[in-house]
Amino acid sequence: MQDPRYDVIVVGAGFAGLACARELAVRGPRVCVIDRKQDLGERIHTTGILVQEACDAPLLAGLPPSLLRAVPHVRVYAPNLRSVRLGAHGYRFHTTDTPALMRWLGEQAEACGVEVRRGLAFRDATRTPTGWQVDGVGPTRVLVGADGARSRVARRLGLGQVTQFLYGVEYEFDGMTLREPDALHCFLSKRFAPGYLGWVAQTPTGVQAGLARRYRAGGTPAPDMAGFLAHVAPMTGLDAARRPDSIRAGLIPCGGPVAPMRADGVTLVGDAAGMVSPLTAGGIHSGLRHGAAVGRMLAAHLSGRATSSVPPTPPVPGFAFKRLLRWAFDHAQWDLPIDLLLTAPPMRRMVEQLCFHQRGEQVPDPATAD
Ligand SMILES: Cc1cc2nc3c(=O)[nH]c(=O)nc-3n(C[C@H](O)[C@H](O)[C@H](O)COP(=O)(O)OP(=O)(O)OC[C@H]3O[C@@H](n4cnc5c(N)ncnc54)[C@H](O)[C@@H]3O)c2cc1C
Repeated sequence: MQDPRYDVIVVGAGFAGLACARELAVRGPRVCVIDRKQDLGERIHTTGILVQEACDAPLLAGLPPSLLRAVPHVRVYAPNLRSVRLGAHGYRFHTTDTPALMRWLGEQAEACGVEVRRGLAFRDATRTPTGWQVDGVGPTRVLVGADGARSRVARRLGLGQVTQFLYGVEYEFDGMTLREPDALHCFLSKRFAPGYLGWVAQTPTGVQAGLARRYRAGGTPAPDMAGFLAHVAPMTGLDAARRPDSIRAGLIPCGGPVAPMRADGVTLVGDAAGMVSPLTAGGIHSGLRHGAAVGRMLAAHLSGRATSSVPPTPPVPGFAFKRLLRWAFDHAQWDLPIDLLLTAPPMRRMVEQLCFHQRGEQVPDPATAD
């Protein structure tokens, strides 16, 4: 019987694919990750904000502090720009130098024994008696699709595909400093971000400002970044007239996990599997966690400790409550109630719990202090 050169080929060197590959490689299987990008730090389509739990991911162990900036607070703005500053004791978000982070993650995976082949796109694969023959790469026992929201692996091999998206656009301003850099600024506004929100954040290298809105195929107007930047400039200290140094954009899955997520010898992880919080649209932590869990289970499967011929997958969250909140936000987003209620204690408390994963607490607001 043919001995495939690789036990696992992972398509996509993003958070989920590299986390999966690392967990496999440290347990023995021969793993190759292919990515169509020559440089993993190019054409990024994420803000790269990490929730605190994401920093504990094994793949991120030893991350150079220069790539991170701690952001302990969230300032949420109503459409009329009244705001509340929120926090939770000891909890921090981290903004990142995302291009440098992605390159570093690739190197980390390589240091663990993963072969990362850059500039190699997945086109198709055919079934063999021992696994899959991946065009342009070679044979493998198991194929993992970690190729993002528009997964070609899912499409070509007949797995479930993501059908509901948000569309996000983000401008980056190198070297710029916000008036309140220790807060992630989140703007609720049906005019600028129907179905989601706008954000402004201080990063290790400058400022990121973005808008995301509900995506409808063939009918999604481009987010009005110029209008948004002018709208929020007085609150943030942004120079709205300055041209961005770079622009990122992309689709964010928001409909929950896809089905089926796996078949004989192939499984999806991360965005390809729809593993993104439908409410917050955060997919880095869930992608790292899901990719790593699939990697550990595949390693057990390949070592012969598992009995089924079908690669296992870990239990996946259904995001039922968050999908309900997303539905409500999609269908009943009105500015007036948010203008009136955001600063009211019960609403503030609820937003704080959502932002800080049930750890929220009242924090003093320097902007309103005497
Ligand atoms: C504008 C925007 C801002 C966001 N901000 C945040 C945030 O701040 N925090 C957060 O938690 N989440 C954020 N998200 C969501 C988050 O970025 C994703 O959930 C996360 O990056 C998913 O990781 P992944 O590894 O599954 O997929 P990706 O990061 O999409 O990685 C997929 C990889 O596959 C490669 N690939 C694709 N097709 C092929 C192919 N055919 N052959 C070979 N390689 C291929 C790509 O080049 C890419 O490297 C944001 C998303 C967007 C669009």
